[in-house]
Amino acid sequence: MKIPAFKAVLFDMDGVITDTMPYHFRAWRKVFGAHGLKVSKFDVYRREGQKGTKSIQEIFAQAGILLTPEMAGRIIAEKELLFKKILRQRFIPGSRTLVSRLSRRGLRLALVTGTSRHEVEHTLPKGLLSLFQATITGSDVRLGKPDPEPYLKALKALKINAREAVVIENAPFGIMSAKAAGITCYAVTTSLPKEYLGQADKVFKNMKSLTDVLIKEVNV
Ligand code: CA
Repeated sequence: MKIPAFKAVLFDMDGVITDTMPYHFRAWRKVFGAHGLKVSKFDVYRREGQKGTKSIQEIFAQAGILLTPEMAGRIIAEKELLFKKILRQRFIPGSRTLVSRLSRRGLRLALVTGTSRHEVEHTLPKGLLSLFQATITGSDVRLGKPDPEPYLKALKALKINAREAVVIENAPFGIMSAKAAGITCYAVTTSLPKEYLGQADKVFKNMKSLTDVLIKEVNV
């Protein structure tokens, strides 16, 4: 089998670089709880990358309650406020090592996340953020994942074509976005088991096993 020769690596953030999902879940559970609804970890994790207001409307609809966009907007504001309050900086083990190794090898790197630019700058240390030549945030796109727009924008910003890049993701909507943009996608099971990540080209159990394979597949 021919070994790929990637020139660029496009990283998702939540669940790939930063370990923020437990805080998102705690914030969602509390906010839904205040409205009389129970959510499971799976309800939250499988929706990662979805627009918050859409998740709210879907979860309320499951309970037979129809919300207007304004009502969903008020609930998302409560959730975001709480999330910011409880968030502590935590990283997926091995993620920073992988980013700096690829950077030293001269790979072009992009960060592609649905999180707003303001929150990205609040979450990542400057030294780490500066290793990415392009950062596409939720504030920079019209359509979020699973639409291909975020990853297409990253390719354009790095001046690279889809065949030369690989995406690192952890959630179904992110994988759909990468594949719709025509890019190879590797997934890590940091938040969901591999049966939910089946659309990815390869699935890894952690950053270490991903790093071992990826470092052999880059060509610069
Ligand atoms: Ca993610």
